[in-house]
Amino acid sequence: MDLIGIIDKLKKERDLSDSEWKALLETEDAEVFSYLSSCAREIRESIYGKAVFIRGLIEFTNYCKNGCYYCGINCKNTNADRYRLTDEQILACVREGYELGFRTFVLQGGEDPYFTDDKIVSLVRAIKEMHPDCAVTLSIGEKSEESYRAYFEAGADRYLLRHETASPEHYKKLHPENLSWDNRMNCLKTLRKIGYQVGCGLMVGSPYQTMDDLIADLRFISGFKPDMCGIGPFIPHKDTIFKDEPAGTLQMTLKLLSIIRILVPDVLLPATTALGTIDPTGREQGLKHGANVVMPNLSPTNVREKYSLYDGKICMDSESAECIKCLAARVATAGYEIVVDRGDHKNA
Ligand code: SAH
Repeated sequence: MDLIGIIDKLKKERDLSDSEWKALLETEDAEVFSYLSSCAREIRESIYGKAVFIRGLIEFTNYCKNGCYYCGINCKNTNADRYRLTDEQILACVREGYELGFRTFVLQGGEDPYFTDDKIVSLVRAIKEMHPDCAVTLSIGEKSEESYRAYFEAGADRYLLRHETASPEHYKKLHPENLSWDNRMNCLKTLRKIGYQVGCGLMVGSPYQTMDDLIADLRFISGFKPDMCGIGPFIPHKDTIFKDEPAGTLQMTLKLLSIIRILVPDVLLPATTALGTIDPTGREQGLKHGANVVMPNLSPTNVREKYSLYDGKICMDSESAECIKCLAARVATAGYEIVVDRGDHKNA
């Protein structure tokens, strides 16, 4: 198969036949790989130039009522040392982040019933009052339409909810019975309807993931046209039933980053911490393959270790200021530049 021709077709049509998708996903041909990433870079630079947007990640609770099989903070893990940040601690992270040039804050956590809608609403309001020029992103899982509306009305701008897999059968192999693929997908639609900038995404190489599943993911992403798309390798966590499963690979993650850039040209695409965890230069390489966002950790250093979704997570003990310095240098080696900007989606 002429894989270079297939990549050109992908640029025009944003979809391929099953056999073309398979061939592209399976190839290890260096020339094809380099053409794919150069297409992705060209598209990214034509839209976003050399800018890399930063998002300050605040991991504000590791309590979770869900039992996702892959996740280290799932409710069944009795070894997890649970914590919640206070409002004051969260706002202190925001204040510090603002000084360091962050204009987007991502509040991420497990699905923690302690944080009622009222609590989330007042947190969002407090951040927006403190810094009206900043965007607030929530990543707190599946909620009702009413809850999502309340957060939006309080000022939340964006919502990250990885779809995890576009295949309902695969979803069942990663989640317990009480969690449903339909509900997660409906949440994404609801978020979009309300007016959020919405992010979906998946883990590369999650247990039981097949080529067909990945093709379904890519078709879903191409059709849904998310504003953001979070993809990173699956990495096993020692206290989960997937502890002995292999991690996703650097090569496949980079390939998918490039493909997603081609499918959704203006998407905000992070080079994730998980990518930096499986390879010391993973995030730099991600940026060279079409990613244009990095999400450094602003959480207090004493809780970082506890927000352990997978083993080996990087940046555990460096202070936020050091983190951003180190990251700025990494971004520069990739030929890009961190900007002080909300970094909204082009159509927002
Ligand atoms: N509770 C929120 C936030 C989840 S954590 C929610 O449900 O959306 C954010 C993402 O981390 C998850 O969506 C998942 O894709 C990823 N993740 C969880 N466990 C992981 C692991 N073991 N390896 C890599 N990524 C993981």
